[in-house]
Amino acid sequence: MRIILPGLEPAPPSCDLSGEGPTKIEAIQEFGIPAGELGATRVVLVSAGDALVIRTVGMKRGTHARVNVLFKQTADDGPFTGVCRSTPLRADGPGLVARAPAALGGSLWRVEVSTEPTAERGEVGRIELSRVPGQAADPDWTRLPEPWNNALGFLCLESSDEAFRSRRVRTGFAGKVRLDVDLDDAASPLDASQRAAIEEVILRAVSLWATACGACRTEQLTVVHLDGRLLARRGLAEWLTKFGEGPTSPASDTAMRALDAELVSKLEPSMVLGAGKPDDATHAVKDLEPYEPLAPDGEALRRLCSLEVAGGDKPVLTNVRIALCAPKTMDERLRSSIQVTLRRGRTYCGDDPEIIACRADEHLTEYNVRDYRFFLGSPSVPPIGTGAIEVDLLHAMLHEMGHWIGLGHIEGGQSVMSAGLDRSRCIDPTTVAALIRGIASGDAQEGAGPSAFTLNSVRPGRTVDESSDRRRR
Ligand SMILES: [Zn+2]
Repeated sequence: MRIILPGLEPAPPSCDLSGEGPTKIEAIQEFGIPAGELGATRVVLVSAGDALVIRTVGMKRGTHARVNVLFKQTADDGPFTGVCRSTPLRADGPGLVARAPAALGGSLWRVEVSTEPTAERGEVGRIELSRVPGQAADPDWTRLPEPWNNALGFLCLESSDEAFRSRRVRTGFAGKVRLDVDLDDAASPLDASQRAAIEEVILRAVSLWATACGACRTEQLTVVHLDGRLLARRGLAEWLTKFGEGPTSPASDTAMRALDAELVSKLEPSMVLGAGKPDDATHAVKDLEPYEPLAPDGEALRRLCSLEVAGGDKPVLTNVRIALCAPKTMDERLRSSIQVTLRRGRTYCGDDPEIIACRADEHLTEYNVRDYRFFLGSPSVPPIGTGAIEVDLLHAMLHEMGHWIGLGHIEGGQSVMSAGLDRSRCIDPTTVAALIRGIASGDAQEGAGPSAFTLNSVRPGRTVDESSDRRRR
C-alpha cells in the first residue's frame, strides 16, 4: 500500500554524488568493507525516509567500494527499484545521497556494497549509512522490533499476484505443522546473546516463508521447537492463553467445534496472501507474525493435552494439539526437522572460501564461519564467525530454508534463491510461483545433492552453474 504524503510531489528516484546532502542526518548503521582477492558483496537492508546518505569512513587510499542502492516503499510493494547503480565510493570522496519518494512509514532500502579485488587483507574501510531524522516515525513501522520490520524487505510480493490465488494445499512444506530445529555450534560456540539472536533469525526466516506461502494450510508451522524451546505462532499463543482462562469442565462436541473455529480465526489473519479472496483489501503483508515461547508445563498446555478431540471435523485443533502434546506420534508429513550447523570451512559442498552456506541434504544446512562472519540483526550482538566478510545471517538462513522447503536455485530475477548472494534479494513472485508448483506436484528436492550458496554468482572463468550446484565434497 503506498501512501504519499499530502501536499508533496513525489520526486523521481535520484542518486547524487555532489556531496550536498541533507544538513541533518543520523547514522543508522556502520559496517566494514572487506578486502580480499575475491572481491566481496555485502548486502544491508535498512528502513529510512526519502533519503539515504552513504559515506566511507577511514577508507584506505587507492581502494574503492561500489554500491548499488535499491528501494521500495513498503514490504508489499513488489520488487526493489534501483536508485544508484554500481556507483563508486572513494576514500575522502563525497557522500552519496540516494533519494526516492517515501511512503508514510518510511521506505525499505537495500544497499549492496562490493569491493574491487585488491591485494589487501581484512577491511579496507567502513561504510556509514545515515537517514534524515523523523521521517520514519509512523507508529506502524515501529510496532514490532525493527529487525522484524526490516525482515519484511525480504518479501517482494504484491497481493494481486496470480500465484497467491492458488487453492489451499496440504502436502510438502504447505502441510508442515511442526518444525524442530537443532543448533550445532561446536565449531564456534555461541554466547547467550548470540544464541538468543540466532534463534530470532531462524524464527524470522520461518515466519517469512510462512507469510509468503498463502496456499499453505491454516495451521502451517504453528509450532516450532528450537534448541530446546517450545514456541508458537502468536495467533496460537493468544488462543492458548484464552483457552487456559476458559471453563474447565469437559468440553462438549459443540464447544470443541467452537474452539476449533476460534483457533482458525486466530491463525488466519497472518495468512494474508492468497487465502482465497484475492480482491480483499486485507490481502497485503502487514507484519510478520512473530513466535512466542510457551511454558511447557503451563496450565493452558496441560489442559489442552488432556482434552479428548474426537472426530475429523476439527482438523486444525486436532493437528495443533498433537504438534504440541504428542509430537512423537505425529504423521511424518506434518512434522519436519532442520539442523543448523556452524562449520570452520569445509562443508559438504566443498572447501571453497566462496561458499557462505551449504545445503548438505534435506535435513542439514551448514554455515561457513571460517570465511564469513554472520550479522545477527543487531549491531550490539557480536557476529558469529571470524571471517573477513560479513553476511546477514537472515539472508543466508532464508535461502537455506528455501531449499528445505523444496526449492532449487532460481536465477534471472530478484529471487532469494539465486545461487549467489550478489543476485539473491527477496522472495519474489517467481519464487512463490515455484513454491506453489512444488507444493502442487509434491516434488520436494529430496535426494538432490549438496547445493552451495556462494558470495558471487559468477567469478572470472566460471559460469553460474559451475560456481553453484556442481560442487561435491
Ligand atoms: Zn542454495
